Amino acid sequence: MSSNEQPSAPTNFIRNRIIRELDAGQYERIVTRFPPEPNGYLHIGHAKSIVLNFALPEEFGGYTNLRFDDTNPEKEEQRYIDAIKEDVCWLGYEWKNECYASDYFETLYNYALHLLDNGLAYVDEQDADAIREQRGTLTEPGTNSPHRDRSVSENRLLFERMRNGQLPDGACVLRAKIDMTASNINLRDPVIYRIRHQEHPRTGNDWCIYPSYDFAHGQSDAIEHITHSLCTLEFEDHRPLYDWLVEHLPVPSRPHQIEFARLNIDFTVLSKRRLTRLVDEGHVSGWDDPRLPTLAGLRRRGFTPESIRNFCTEIGVTKSESIIPFGVLERNLRDDLNVRAPRRMAVLKPLKLVLTNFPEGETEWLEAANHPQNPDMGTRNVPMTREIFIEQDDFLEEAPKKFFRLKPGGEVRLRNAFIIRCDEVVKDEAGNLVELHCTVDHETRSGQPGADRKVKGTIHWVSAEHAVKAEVRLYDRLFKVPHPGGDKERDFVEHLNEQSLEVLHDARIEPGTEQSQVGDFFQFERLGYFVPDPDGTSDAPVLNRAVTLRDTWAKLEKQLRQG
Ligand code: ATP
Ligand code: MG
Repeated sequence: MSSNEQPSAPTNFIRNRIIRELDAGQYERIVTRFPPEPNGYLHIGHAKSIVLNFALPEEFGGYTNLRFDDTNPEKEEQRYIDAIKEDVCWLGYEWKNECYASDYFETLYNYALHLLDNGLAYVDEQDADAIREQRGTLTEPGTNSPHRDRSVSENRLLFERMRNGQLPDGACVLRAKIDMTASNINLRDPVIYRIRHQEHPRTGNDWCIYPSYDFAHGQSDAIEHITHSLCTLEFEDHRPLYDWLVEHLPVPSRPHQIEFARLNIDFTVLSKRRLTRLVDEGHVSGWDDPRLPTLAGLRRRGFTPESIRNFCTEIGVTKSESIIPFGVLERNLRDDLNVRAPRRMAVLKPLKLVLTNFPEGETEWLEAANHPQNPDMGTRNVPMTREIFIEQDDFLEEAPKKFFRLKPGGEVRLRNAFIIRCDEVVKDEAGNLVELHCTVDHETRSGQPGADRKVKGTIHWVSAEHAVKAEVRLYDRLFKVPHPGGDKERDFVEHLNEQSLEVLHDARIEPGTEQSQVGDFFQFERLGYFVPDPDGTSDAPVLNRAVTLRDTWAKLEKQLRQG
């Protein structure tokens, strides 16, 4: 790419098709929709679909509807609708119309009457098992229902009785009359309406028959003048039915369905059914548990909308299934926060250190850069006192040669401060480490002649007097294996990682950090990127580690592979 060329949106087969169609003058504008069923929270797989559906009209002109596919009243709830809207907004997208398949129930009912009147549908009183048996298989054609050829008037009468609540659940269904010998099983007289005496969150008790997904979906697209109906590959075999319905109904527009591969990520699950189980059975604390791949969980964990959008753009859109490593998602967050997150200091597992030649009772405020590469982010003053905390891991009494942190007699630089030497290791009677006594080399302070003196290690620290006690939550993969449930048909919950959450109750954070609000983020130097959790307050802060500074998993996995 030459230097004056603009980076263009990542290309994919759907975008290429749209470019061709626009060149051929087939559309004036692109209209897409994101069609969640409000029976759970959105997950990162949905984000892939959202980014695709919103990015195309944004690029080519047009708009995107948010359509709730609310045709199954048993599992759908208002709280899911609210959560879905919040998540789409949070990702940074604005839909043009907020639509509900249930808004079209009357129209869909009239479409069903249209099919009946044209001899293209019939009421079938057989039970689900009989209908299934007659469907045939991939190699054998289906057989006609004994009710397939009833008259239009008889069909209408029965369908009206279904609609008027005169028949119990399961008494009969409405089927499209297509072809029981079609090679595509979806065309073998699919069920398009079922009786369900069930209150609906939006239409209440207005209806006791509900359209099938296939009947509602395409017609809703047509009613909304959707030009491109993007969905995942499992609906590819439904496309002939989608097209058949659009062709045979007096719909106001002709949408086209295009399928793409769904997103899969290792070490997690991306299915609402499985996620619902994790929540309902209490394996996690709720839909927004930071270990879940739900957007609410990722947000609470500390993921930014930018990082998720970048991830979705990076993985692209294809027609072949693949499994993306969880680390790719984390890398996108790291890349985003590395640039934007202000730096702070914190100690997760504190070890007390006394600076014996630092004046007692005094606080010295040392200037520290908020970002090492970005002076525009300014500086802050961090308090230094005679007693500080360092990380337990940063001291080793019997240290190997390559250990460049603190060891008896050794030197280390305290980040944003000066070099210290460890003179004495203080232990209690039982031999447990109590504290370290060190001396400051005052010559190595900023502005002093020894300021540039190099030692191999730099460690972080906080003032024992000024630091604020905090709870810190560290997260690991939710599952122990890349493909929970795996090929052996094991129950996926058996693969949960019991160590996926580690809670530290005695962490200390740089003063001021406790005032941060949900939505803020920072890097604790050497430890990772952290965000305040809604469980915390400024008096009792709770922080989540969103991601470590380096991909420790990739390293671990490599070691495992190398044996
Ligand atoms: P699940 O399998 O998790 O229940 P779903 O497809 O039933 O998901 P919907 O609410 O119907 O959930 O999905 C709304 C839209 O999001 C659909 O167009 C669907 O194809 C898309 N979608 C769902 N999961 C993924 C995924 N993993 N990757 C890409 N798109 C997805
Ligand atoms: Mg679905």
